Amino acid sequence: MKNLILLGPPGAGKGTQAKRLQDHYGIAQISTGDMLRAEVAAGTPVGREAKAVMEAGHLVSDNIIIRMLGSRISQADCAQGFILDGFPRTVPQAEALDQLLTERKLSLDAVIELKVDDAALVERISGRFTCAKCGTGYHDVFKPPVLAGVCDSCGSTEFTRRADDNRETVTARLEAYHRQTAPLLPYYRAKGNLRTVDGMADIDDVSREIGALLECPPG
Ligand code: AMP
Repeated sequence: MKNLILLGPPGAGKGTQAKRLQDHYGIAQISTGDMLRAEVAAGTPVGREAKAVMEAGHLVSDNIIIRMLGSRISQADCAQGFILDGFPRTVPQAEALDQLLTERKLSLDAVIELKVDDAALVERISGRFTCAKCGTGYHDVFKPPVLAGVCDSCGSTEFTRRADDNRETVTARLEAYHRQTAPLLPYYRAKGNLRTVDGMADIDDVSREIGALLECPPG
């Protein structure tokens, strides 16, 4: 069983790598961003509260997120382990996670930081889009589909772009990362389970590096 956190700024590749880890290890990807987008799409009270905050590139309140995460990790697909993608994003969220894990007699196997330059992030985020059917990720410049307008994985011709993946919002999201999320690096370093990977490398190389770390955990 593996319980992992992927930490890094928006556009660092957390979602892409989390999907690969999910497929490889059979553990659940938990993306709080995806969960919130589903709430927004369904028009739930949480979604209505989160929508404007997300569109502005700010963080949704810790209370909402911690409640959402607490019920998510109780679900059956998390019994074999989980990869947290986009959570925790603040020190209070990390403290709440510690408490949840202790209550459930679980532990963290690794916190993996994907390190990427800010300048590259704006380029990465503003060109990305996703297959509406299977969720495969693409990029206008760095990873277009082999056949323009057709998903390489499932053949669908429908794609979506996130409402917050634009240059203006990216700046606010990066600012939120540096101010509110980066303090988690010393938090986990002090606990001894932070590992850093070069997120500027090619997607396959990043996956290989993460795989190598997980086969040889610290200590
Ligand atoms: P993401 O898909 O992880 O980039 O998240 C998209 C947006 O959802 C963020 O910019 C935040 O507004 C919100 N969000 C996702 N996860 C969290 C979290 N753990 N804490 C607060 N806000 C979050």
